[in-house]
Amino acid sequence: MNRFEVAKPTTLAQAKDLVQEKAWSIYKAGGIDVIDHLKEHLAEPPRIVDLKSIPGLSEIKVEADGSLRIGALVKLADLAADERVKKTHAALAIAAGETASPQVRNVATMGGSVLQRPRCWYYRLEEYQCLKKGGEVCYAVGGENRYHVIFGGGPSYAVHPSNSAVALVALGASFVFDGPKGGRTVLASEFFQLPSKNAQVENTLGVGEILTEVRVPAGAGRSIYDEVRERQAFDWPLVSVAVALRLEGGLVKDARVVLGAVAPIPWRSNRAEAALMGKPLNEATLQDAGRAATVGAAPLSDNGYKVGLVQTLVRRTLAQLA
Ligand SMILES: Cc1cc2nc3c(=O)[nH]c(=O)nc-3n(C[C@H](O)[C@H](O)[C@H](O)COP(=O)(O)OP(=O)(O)OC[C@H]3O[C@@H](n4cnc5c(N)ncnc54)[C@H](O)[C@@H]3O)c2cc1C
Ligand code: SF4
Repeated sequence: MNRFEVAKPTTLAQAKDLVQEKAWSIYKAGGIDVIDHLKEHLAEPPRIVDLKSIPGLSEIKVEADGSLRIGALVKLADLAADERVKKTHAALAIAAGETASPQVRNVATMGGSVLQRPRCWYYRLEEYQCLKKGGEVCYAVGGENRYHVIFGGGPSYAVHPSNSAVALVALGASFVFDGPKGGRTVLASEFFQLPSKNAQVENTLGVGEILTEVRVPAGAGRSIYDEVRERQAFDWPLVSVAVALRLEGGLVKDARVVLGAVAPIPWRSNRAEAALMGKPLNEATLQDAGRAATVGAAPLSDNGYKVGLVQTLVRRTLAQLA
């Protein structure tokens, strides 16, 4: 770990100035992922700007229309336990609650969760200078790739790491940013970006931009999140899925199916959604949707098992909404 100073701004304007004043300075929220980066020398910032000293970013508000406004510093444990979120946007509460361990959830934040970097072991180890770190090679191709992508890969094959992001895309959420060039709001589904655009970054976060709030609209219908993992106590998902759907007269009127841990971004499955539209949620429809979710999958040498897992998980998760 390098030597660095810690700055504690009390306004967003101060935070932006502090990060821009010294090149390579970084923001910290809960610090779970930031500290990992420091320990592995993946980041060597001269200054860490702690967003936790800025008041007003830790609230969950429910608007009159039922939509949510979630401050970027809301802890995952608070999100998971919020009865209002559980009632109206269950997929998000479940995804937050399934993340890591109670210790991590009591520190990790909404913003840090969606902005955390990938967990590919080659990326995380200092000695591998892979494509994502500006090197020439992706070590996962021809290397250890059992936890890597089956959709959307190349030239990097690391999966998107955030549970919450998968639920947020399914729920049609947007991210609100404040940056040196002003504010902007972007749909979660458009914020995350494939490595074919740029293997070194996972999203369109601009230099010095701060995620201030996540907005989650009402009206996506009933929603749910589920995942399969190796260790039940706590672990990263092998595959996950978030579903939001509306039924009318027993038939699916609207559906969003988003897969996690299978692609470099939360992966919306248009084919699974098409298999559901206008159908009753019976066993035949669930089977069709599960199969449709894996059309186009391109597993690597060691992760073909994810195809079967996705099919089962999609079917099993939809059955909970039937
Ligand atoms: C043992 C373990 C198991 C885990 N399992 C899971 C899991 O199953 N599922 C899962 O989703 N995650 C898992 N995680 C990851 C964990 O959820 C994330 O590391 C955590 O959510 C990051 O949040 P944070 O607030 O600590 O972010 P930080 O570490 O503070 O920040 C993360 C990144 O986001 C940036 N950042 C943070 N907030 C903002 C903001 N508001 N504006 C701009 N930039 C910002 C930081 O600069 C940094 O780049 C696990 C972690 C551990 C240690
Ligand atoms: S999958 Fe991405 S992060 Fe992992 S080694 Fe390849 S380029 Fe690096």
